[in-house]
Amino acid sequence: MRNAIVVGGGLAGISAALALQDSGKWNIKLFEAGKTLGGRVSSITDNETGLKLDNCQHACFRVYDHFLQLVGRCGAQSSIKFQQKTNVKFTNPNTGVSGSLYDSKLKPPNHLAKSILKFPHLTFKDKLKMRKLVKKLSKMTEEERINLDDVSFEKWLKENGQTQNSIDVFWGFFVLAALNISVKEASTAQAAFLFRKGLFGNSDAFDVGAFAEDLSYIFENQISNTLIESGIEIYNSTKINSLIWNGEKYTGVKTSTEEFFADLIILATPHNITKKMLKDGPESTKIIYENLSKMNFNSLIGIHGLYNKKITKDDFHFTALINEPIIQMIFNRNFELNGEVSANIKQWLSIPVSYADHYIKYSKQDLEEEYKKVIGKIWPEHEKFLSKIVIVKTPNATFSTKIGSTKLRPDANEIIPGLILSGDYINNNWPSVMEGAVTSGLMAAATALNMDSWKNDDLWTNWPKPPRRGNQNWNKL
Ligand SMILES: Cc1cc2nc3c(=O)[nH]c(=O)nc-3n(C[C@H](O)[C@H](O)[C@H](O)COP(=O)(O)OP(=O)(O)OC[C@H]3O[C@@H](n4cnc5c(N)ncnc54)[C@H](O)[C@@H]3O)c2cc1C
Repeated sequence: MRNAIVVGGGLAGISAALALQDSGKWNIKLFEAGKTLGGRVSSITDNETGLKLDNCQHACFRVYDHFLQLVGRCGAQSSIKFQQKTNVKFTNPNTGVSGSLYDSKLKPPNHLAKSILKFPHLTFKDKLKMRKLVKKLSKMTEEERINLDDVSFEKWLKENGQTQNSIDVFWGFFVLAALNISVKEASTAQAAFLFRKGLFGNSDAFDVGAFAEDLSYIFENQISNTLIESGIEIYNSTKINSLIWNGEKYTGVKTSTEEFFADLIILATPHNITKKMLKDGPESTKIIYENLSKMNFNSLIGIHGLYNKKITKDDFHFTALINEPIIQMIFNRNFELNGEVSANIKQWLSIPVSYADHYIKYSKQDLEEEYKKVIGKIWPEHEKFLSKIVIVKTPNATFSTKIGSTKLRPDANEIIPGLILSGDYINNNWPSVMEGAVTSGLMAAATALNMDSWKNDDLWTNWPKPPRRGNQNWNKL
């Protein structure tokens, strides 16, 4: 048995720790600066209502294989629910016209074609041009995709004949929601991955999933319990200040009062913290440090509308809003939760404001006014029943998938003696999402276990398979 220290108890650190401990070859100590595990997937407690509210809506998708394997390994199936058929609704709040993207029996990448043909927010010309590009995206080789890292996705879309309307309504919307950046600033390599793997990948890839409890629940319960039962020692509220380098390799970590030593350190912190830890590091870390110095974050805002009476129909799940810059999507948390919201709060609407870099400076009052105005276009009576609006701002939410960002991402198998890097920013194609974080944790574990033949796309063999549609053991939306 060898000893490893994992720094960071977000999804990356949790996955690395559990996969290594499960191998029976490693003993793990996991250090987390926060009070609980979960990192950027977290809840805040609203003191007035006592409710635990998400830092922001966290959607998952059936294409998140490794994330779902982790959920299965921790026996947390009851806390995640999935659509049994892809259905992404779009509403124009000014006209009330709505239409959905849904899958049909046609083979991918054509499984959405029927719904796109009927989609009311795109013209026939938009659709014809889109069809050509979907074909081109599907045929693109991985090398061609990576070579487009320095090209703006908007520029590439225009060069490939896409209309402004399809960029605004379709391409730009998915880039905003999934990459958390504008279509103009997004790297084409990263955006192309999203469409190839997600929307136009397997027929069921874009089935939307949701947390059926507040976000912290799964971490404080099933995940913590599984880690402890597996033998991992968890040190919560323990900030690591620096790494220990003995002149030849990394050998340990330092808190403000103690030092801990191990055969291997896995640093599963966000890229800005990792950069600080590698400052003045050995020669092998210099390029990584320089690249991480060029990485940025993009912001997100979560807006929660709490009501003392239900204002939506019970079967309303979510809708994207056409041409709304701030209130871009509305989720009905009642539809997703296992139980009621609370005795006094009968409806919880959750609005993720993606790419909120500009709006993060807005006052609470301005954001509240915008919320009331836009929600009022759809449910005109809503203010009568509105108990409270809670706003959560996260400036450093996701690493930026800006033009040229792919080449800044380090690999999990970078050769740094005694140290392996992990975290959603590690080069694994995924943007800054939960699946990327779990995949990076497994990449770190695979490197530690010398599993040279394991590829990022492979399932983790020791963990349960991810659920396909209709799996009876998993909750359905
Ligand atoms: C508001 C918001 C909304 C999002 N929405 C979605 C979504 O809808 N779908 C989706 O898939 N993804 C979403 N994401 C992205 C997703 O949450 C992240 O990609 C993922 O959680 C990152 O996991 P990680 O383990 O790489 O990093 P983190 O979760 O940041 O984990 C790193 C951990 O390291 C700890 N740490 C930092 N410094 C130290 C130190 N010195 N010592 C010890 N511990 C330390 C931190 O406390 C943290 O727990 C969202 C993120 C945010 C912030």
